[in-house]
Amino acid sequence: MNITRAGRSIRGFMSVQSENPELLKAQYRAFTRQMPMMYFILLSSTWALAITHFGVAPSWLTTGGPLLLTCGCLLRVVFWLRTRHFEPSPDLAYAALKRANRLAGFIAISFTLWSFALVPYGDAYLRSHVAFYMAITVISCIFCLMYVRSAAFIVALIVNGAFVAFFISTAQPTFVAIAVNLLLVCAGMMSILLTNYQNFESMVVSRQRSDALSTENFKLANLDSLTGLANRRAFFAALEVELEKARLSGNRLALGVMDLDGFKPVNDLYGHSVGDRLLVEVAIRLSDVLKASTPFRLGGDEFAIIAPLPPESDQLVINANAITARLREPYHMPEGTVHVSASMGIAVFPDLALSREQLFDRADYALYHAKKKQRGRAVLFNSDLEKQINTDAKIESVLKQANLDKELSLVFQPIVDIRNQVTLGFEALARWDSPTLGKVSPAYFIPIAERAGIVSSLTRPLFKKALAAANRWDPSLRLSFNLSAHDLNSESGVLSLIGIIESSGFDPRRLDLEITETAFTHDFEQVSQSVAMLRCLGCGISLDDFGTGYSSLTRLHALPLTKFKIDRSFVTNLHQSPSSYKIVKSLLTLSADMGLDCVIEGVETEEELAAIIALGGISVQGYLFSPPLPEDQVMEFATLNGHEYRTRAG
Ligand code: C2E
Ligand code: CA
Ligand code: CA
Repeated sequence: MNITRAGRSIRGFMSVQSENPELLKAQYRAFTRQMPMMYFILLSSTWALAITHFGVAPSWLTTGGPLLLTCGCLLRVVFWLRTRHFEPSPDLAYAALKRANRLAGFIAISFTLWSFALVPYGDAYLRSHVAFYMAITVISCIFCLMYVRSAAFIVALIVNGAFVAFFISTAQPTFVAIAVNLLLVCAGMMSILLTNYQNFESMVVSRQRSDALSTENFKLANLDSLTGLANRRAFFAALEVELEKARLSGNRLALGVMDLDGFKPVNDLYGHSVGDRLLVEVAIRLSDVLKASTPFRLGGDEFAIIAPLPPESDQLVINANAITARLREPYHMPEGTVHVSASMGIAVFPDLALSREQLFDRADYALYHAKKKQRGRAVLFNSDLEKQINTDAKIESVLKQANLDKELSLVFQPIVDIRNQVTLGFEALARWDSPTLGKVSPAYFIPIAERAGIVSSLTRPLFKKALAAANRWDPSLRLSFNLSAHDLNSESGVLSLIGIIESSGFDPRRLDLEITETAFTHDFEQVSQSVAMLRCLGCGISLDDFGTGYSSLTRLHALPLTKFKIDRSFVTNLHQSPSSYKIVKSLLTLSADMGLDCVIEGVETEEELAAIIALGGISVQGYLFSPPLPEDQVMEFATLNGHEYRTRAG
């Protein structure tokens, strides 16, 4: 049993191992580097031995033999030198190493036979030279063959075996001593060589592991683990590369950035695992639908597409809308069918964007625009948007330096009970009179301040002013005040609002805080928590611009609301538009079912008012009753009732 195992392990040492392809390649590389050196040592010492035998041994031995061996060796040297820079496949490396194994045996036998053939001709000096030649040459060959363990073993076995047998058989004490000495030295060397080879092997394996690790790290760093798409980091790198290519070739390059509409409600309603599966499905659809362009996931529900050589603008938008249409199709999940859409912003190099940053910012701006004006569709960044960007940037920079306390003021628009024309309260609306820009509408500067993240610095002075003004009103009047998502998406934000209410001395029960549905899309958890805190204080909470967002009923139920405000867009020409009529009717029914008050905004004409009365609406706000008024006219309006005021104004 032991003998067979020993036999097997000897056979293992004598043949090339083929299990690890990387090891084979590494062996091949190390081997080819050392081969010319081995042949150089072999030939130089062979010729040294041959020359000392000139005239003593026959010339076929001193010249013919070495010449033949030299020719054979030179052929191999040339071969190895030519293949030095060749990167072999594992199969080729294996074949070459096996061939080297066989050749090692053949060369060892040839040189040994030639050396022995010289022994009978020389005196003691020359015979010692033969012994020295064989001993020293075999040692250097073993060293050179270190990385092909099997070849080193074959050479050691053949040369040493023959050497020891031959010189011990001479019974000459010096030669016997040399033979024993060589045997011991070679045994020691073989063990060093084995250790060396093992080190070499483990070095190759560990390098292999670290290569695999760095490939894995590269994947982790550049791929989105959920969807398998390239991630944000890969996106910016790819955008840089593609942009450079486009610059050099003079071609156009389109960038599309996308954001899902209604993704957050899916997450809230069905849970994150459904949300995750939805994102995976979106990634699959994107990859399917894209041909020449690459999709990326930038994070959350944001995706991007880099499209080299895009078609002209019109066709580009058509193609992009084919993508948004595909993403709008229902997603069938075991938990139910999910509906989301995707808005896309596109910018094209070099049309209106020259750098990577500009391309991204402008596509992002077009996306923002799409979200606001054309949800679920693609918008191409154009010169109108460019003008708007410049205006926005100007407004933002002036706003950041403005003396907000001084420049911001409020006007108040009455909310009237249409059953008895009694004024219920006023909505405070911001006004900004800038020394450099003049009067700027809140419809402009509020969204800009929100995007710039500075809206809370506007809210605080406005809120203080609104409460101070309302403190001077008749206690029967309520105050409505508009809040932004940013005011509510942190605990410190809501605490600062509560602080302002408390220090104003205004009764929180007379206060209605207006929040749009989109405020909840930012951070539903935190915003609902903030709203709950304000509700606890006694404040009313109105859902502003109701009907324009995408709130699900489940989400609305989860909020401690006290009022809906039906958006103006459904009220305009209500009496002539059956669809608006139906919407207002169902929103009124919904608010009644939920036990909530409902304010109808933007009533401008008697016809609209008549339709609202017919639908059973109660609280109304709009130019028909009054535009927003300066503070000094508030009490005057409230003391007249809405009807009288209208009559007087008319
Ligand atoms: P909103 O909260 O929906 O306010 C109603 C807007 O509609 C006001 O515009 C008001 O003047 C206008 N409006 C009222 N009745 C009618 C009508 O019959 N017809 C028409 N065409 N418009 C009418 P305003 O004052 O320009 O405010 C625009 C938006 O700016 C507001 O919309 C609100 O979202 C925001 N905003 C205004 N003040 C503030 C504020 O202090 N804080 C925050 N966060 N947002 C504010
Ligand atoms: Ca409002
Ligand atoms: Ca509104």
